[in-house]
Amino acid sequence: MTDHLEYEVVVIGGGPAGLTTALYATRLGHRTAVFEKEGGRHARVSHVHNLLGVSENVSGEQLAIHAVDQLEHYGGDFFPDAVESVSRLETDPDDGSDTDGPRFRLESTHATVDARRVVFATGFRDRSPDVPELERFTGRGLHYCLHCDAYTLGDGSVFVLGHTESAAHVAMSMLNFTADVDLLLDDREPEWDEETQRQLEAHPVDVIDTAVVSAYADEHVADDERPWIGGLELADGTQREYLGGFAMYGSAYNADLATELGCELREDGAIAVDEARETSVDGVYAVGDVTHGQNQTTIAIGDGAYAGLALHKDLRPFPKSTAELEASEADSSGDGDDLEVPGSAADLRAQMRRVRELETHPGLRGPSPGRE
Ligand SMILES: Cc1cc2nc3c(=O)[nH]c(=O)nc-3n(C[C@H](O)[C@H](O)[C@H](O)COP(=O)(O)OP(=O)(O)OC[C@H]3O[C@@H](n4cnc5c(N)ncnc54)[C@H](O)[C@@H]3O)c2cc1C
Repeated sequence: MTDHLEYEVVVIGGGPAGLTTALYATRLGHRTAVFEKEGGRHARVSHVHNLLGVSENVSGEQLAIHAVDQLEHYGGDFFPDAVESVSRLETDPDDGSDTDGPRFRLESTHATVDARRVVFATGFRDRSPDVPELERFTGRGLHYCLHCDAYTLGDGSVFVLGHTESAAHVAMSMLNFTADVDLLLDDREPEWDEETQRQLEAHPVDVIDTAVVSAYADEHVADDERPWIGGLELADGTQREYLGGFAMYGSAYNADLATELGCELREDGAIAVDEARETSVDGVYAVGDVTHGQNQTTIAIGDGAYAGLALHKDLRPFPKSTAELEASEADSSGDGDDLEVPGSAADLRAQMRRVRELETHPGLRGPSPGRE
């Protein structure tokens, strides 16, 4: 027995990946909790693009608020708290404590909980450009994701800030959207190879090595609280007008807790997972941006669904395999009457009945019934 809260599934990270895993786990009948410290990439999205049925007037933060509400509607728990450590609990085959597989203890800033399965959905951090005044235009002319925002900048004057291979490739890729692309080195030495250099020379991208000293707002955009970028000022005193651009300084995966637990990483620092989104540590899963560079909301959501389904298969007893049935037939009548069904606890089944009697969750149209 433990005096801590016990969950079947604990998800670390309340972005699209973690909340989707938690929603699946909850609606598949598992006692589930999400821990979310403030921040994350979803919270920086001012307009969510490429998400079917979701208006671009919706921000990443609004989407997460609705998703938490949806999760709680079905009985999942949400803790606005940072997880500080995850450790594996010792189980002992002699006292039967290992029959359900691995167990974990999570310490957050304000709580301690135990879990049978852990999901890392911790995302990554974009490295910001070192240009004064620029960061306030995040989502309003300063972007990090070509596939999300190239369309927004189509046919405009565009900058790419950076000096790496990926900065050079994003600059050349932007030529699919506009003829006016500057690659701003900000007084740093290029780090791309000779082949990329040859490509760049053959593409109409202006490579500018002068330092970038400041950013200014577009005075024609009336919204003072959320101004759009007007351009950048360079160290030689010139001002270059831009509709917007991308900062390409790489990212840092939030994989420290997973590493401490023994999860293998890929060469680039992402958490390595298999097709079911399980890591190299039994009972530990990882989803979303922390597992790859395909940083898209829909892909994070898809990862979350994969993990949710895999967790369910891993945790629930039915259907029994023929080997399990044969083993149980050895000391039973063999007609199935000895199987203990249903396979989930009484309080979880009661929750399913309760939700069935409520109105359907309204999704983005408003709060859940009874939660107005
Ligand atoms: C400016 C910007 C605009 C974007 N626009 C779009 C777009 O229009 N369309 C699109 O498809 N994609 C867009 N993206 C990409 C999209 O936001 C990400 O791909 C998506 O948010 C990834 O989801 P995730 O759940 O994996 O990670 P995140 O959204 O980063 O969530 C991870 C969460 O884990 C939490 N966390 C980390 N460590 C801990 C801990 N120890 N304890 C508790 N919580 C923890 C963080 O606080 C964070 O909230 C954009 C990204 C940025 C930065």
